[in-house]
Amino acid sequence: MAKRIAIFGSTGSIGTQALDVIAANPDKFSAEVLTAYHNHELLIEQSLKFNPNCVVIGDESKYLLVKEALSHTNVKVFAGERALEEVAAIDCYDMMLAAIVGFAGLKPTLQAIEIGKPIALANKETLVVAGDLVMQKAVAKRVPIIPVDSEHSAIFQCLIGEGRNVVEKVILTASGGPFLGRKPNYLVNVKKEHALQHPNWEMGAKISIDSATLMNKGLEMIEAKWLFNLHPDQIHVIIHPQSIIHSMVQFADGSIKSQMGLPDMKLPIQYALGFPQRIANNFPRYDFKKPHTLTFEEPDYKTFRNLSLAIDALNKGGNWPCILNAANEVAVYAFLRNRIGFLDMTAVVEETLSKIPFIEKPTLQDYFDCDGAARTFTASIIRM
Ligand code: NAD
Ligand code: MG
Repeated sequence: MAKRIAIFGSTGSIGTQALDVIAANPDKFSAEVLTAYHNHELLIEQSLKFNPNCVVIGDESKYLLVKEALSHTNVKVFAGERALEEVAAIDCYDMMLAAIVGFAGLKPTLQAIEIGKPIALANKETLVVAGDLVMQKAVAKRVPIIPVDSEHSAIFQCLIGEGRNVVEKVILTASGGPFLGRKPNYLVNVKKEHALQHPNWEMGAKISIDSATLMNKGLEMIEAKWLFNLHPDQIHVIIHPQSIIHSMVQFADGSIKSQMGLPDMKLPIQYALGFPQRIANNFPRYDFKKPHTLTFEEPDYKTFRNLSLAIDALNKGGNWPCILNAANEVAVYAFLRNRIGFLDMTAVVEETLSKIPFIEKPTLQDYFDCDGAARTFTASIIRM
């Protein structure tokens, strides 16, 4: 029987690629739940094509449009942010693909874990904000969390079959983004059109900006800590502009395993959906015979200070990653609306981290409060 997938964030970059994977493997997967925030047109189109059990449109003002367009089908239509959680709690699917962007993905993901559904996790912010509580709950409910983020999928694959063997460190590769090698005097003037042009991956706007500032790699270090139960000192980053090695694990004997391939998110998506089975496909293959140099270099922590701030949050723990994430989300959307400059994003995150009180062992409510307080503060300094 086909595995019934609930795609939270089906209209995004990950969501649409996941639907490509499902469409290519109708015997293996079906789309049972689809959700979108604003893009009702695409949600309707996807619903007509995949005939899910239910859909959620986050933006309630679009409810009637979706309801009417699907009135001749059996698709159940829900609207609003609460509905995301409520639908996540319905026992009608076999796996959730968490592909909402940002903090908004946390509640539905927690809800899916609560009812024991395996998670294919793209929404890294869920672990950045509340990784301790999310992983505790997943362990308590015996729910597997299979990473979709390409680096974490690579590490996950490298760890298969290693049992209790000791991991010395993991090495996350980073493409370096569109501004690799640039210095602050250049970055001060870059605009969103330029920052959105990622050299190797086509992604949603928020993660594209995070890749340009290297905040994305910092968030991924925090994500790796929780997914693989690592100490911060075990998590390293190396710039690898070609994005062929997706990440590496170095074991106690010094041996290093890597997972490689052409950069294509459909690969980690289909791996997570199909795990433990590898599904045959005809995606283009990496060809070692073609002249190709794989290079590696240290990140420029002084220029890309977001990475340093994220490492501070990784080391300090508590509510710092939550504050970092909230401030960063506000800063990125302000940059995307041309309200602040590229380097200002780092400045406002840093200031927010210095102003919101530190909590060493936050509760879930603390995380929600802290997310709200950090957003309000960051917005106030940007004067949004
Ligand atoms: P995207 O912006 O393209 O899509 C986001 C999806 O979430 C859309 O379906 C949108 O409707 C929905 N959404 C946005 N805000 C929402 C809200 N407040 N409430 C409910 N739904 C909301 O983003 P993306 O690039 O697909 O990324 C999704 C997640 O996957 C992010 O956490 C990102 O870091 C992670 N990720 C993405 C890639 C990639 O290649 N795109 C790679 C690795 C990890
Ligand atoms: Mg990644």
